[in-house]
Amino acid sequence: MSAPRLEINLQKLHHNARTLVKRLAGQGIAVTGVSKATLGMFEIVHTWLGAGVGSIGESRIETIEALVRSGITVPLLLVRSPMLSQVDRVVASASISCNTDLGVLNALAAAAKQQGRRHGVLLMVELGDLREGILPADLESVAQQILAMANLQLMGIGTNLGCQNGIAPDAQNMGDLSRLTTALEQRFHLTLPWCSGGNSANLPWLAAGGDPARINHLRLGEALLLGREPLHRTAIPGLHTDAISLVAEVIEATHKPSQPWGERGRTSFEGSPSAPRREGSSQRVQRALLALGEQDVDPAGLIPPRGTVIRGASSDHLVVESPGQLLAVGDEQRYQLSYSALLRAMTSPFVDRCLVDGSSIAPSARCR
Ligand SMILES: *Cc1c(COP(=O)(O)O)cnc(C)c1O
Repeated sequence: MSAPRLEINLQKLHHNARTLVKRLAGQGIAVTGVSKATLGMFEIVHTWLGAGVGSIGESRIETIEALVRSGITVPLLLVRSPMLSQVDRVVASASISCNTDLGVLNALAAAAKQQGRRHGVLLMVELGDLREGILPADLESVAQQILAMANLQLMGIGTNLGCQNGIAPDAQNMGDLSRLTTALEQRFHLTLPWCSGGNSANLPWLAAGGDPARINHLRLGEALLLGREPLHRTAIPGLHTDAISLVAEVIEATHKPSQPWGERGRTSFEGSPSAPRREGSSQRVQRALLALGEQDVDPAGLIPPRGTVIRGASSDHLVVESPGQLLAVGDEQRYQLSYSALLRAMTSPFVDRCLVDGSSIAPSARCR
């Protein structure tokens, strides 16, 4: 079996999706599964749909087009505002897109008219995290203009917190979203299908008893894939955090001094984990090199197996110390992943993706 490889346990992913879909349905909340960290991997999307996820969210039109080609028929939501240069493709393949710009909305309307389609719009509202969204003060006027565009359907409003500045969903901002929804409905005498409260960062707030009020939709990626919420990276009760793991191979295993010697300058990857300086310590430690680096994964997002400490990473090497365990060349080690590590590994041409079920690895034919 080749390394590095992502091992993807579809049973565990099914369990995560089923558990969250059921839990949230109890609060009147529907789930869009956001598959962007997996590049819309078909087997995962298919598993989610089987577990009751009703629609799929993706950030790239290329992936949405691939999902359409693969025969997925549920609504596909483009979770990033369309590029002006891609509106034709967006209308042709995505049923709904998140939007924040009137120029883009006008172009979407024109493209939809030309293609004889109706395109759904989830209008994103800025509630403090300072990524996408129109300001609440502009909501009524923008909504009015969308409602005047014959080939667009206003599906509702949404917000996205957590991703840019780590702003947490709370009673204030979530209450604002509900109140804005109700105000729009009253102003324009209509019913909006979606009040889209956010992403995986909303789950701790809901679990702590937050009142969803009008919120009836969430867009979930990390929680479904990794069983964690993004704000504090804590595990969500009842979910698997190891449904996807990364296996890498040892290419050097030896005892070396714990401290580097010689004059010290900068390193090639400043952001990577690196050894803290322990002056005067010349102790020899069991160290290993793994064939895994920045070209494969975000090393800062790797969670090592028990007894292993990550000491550094560069483009192709991961340096670890494993005091409690004698590693040998050819050994494999299994790491858990943060969202950024998963995204990079899925995107790397050097990392295989293997489907495994239960605890036994399926035939290597299931890697690609
Ligand atoms: C990526 C993304 C999501 C999913 O976020 P998770 O934290 O993975 O749940 C939801 N909404 C938007 C707009 C996104 O870009």
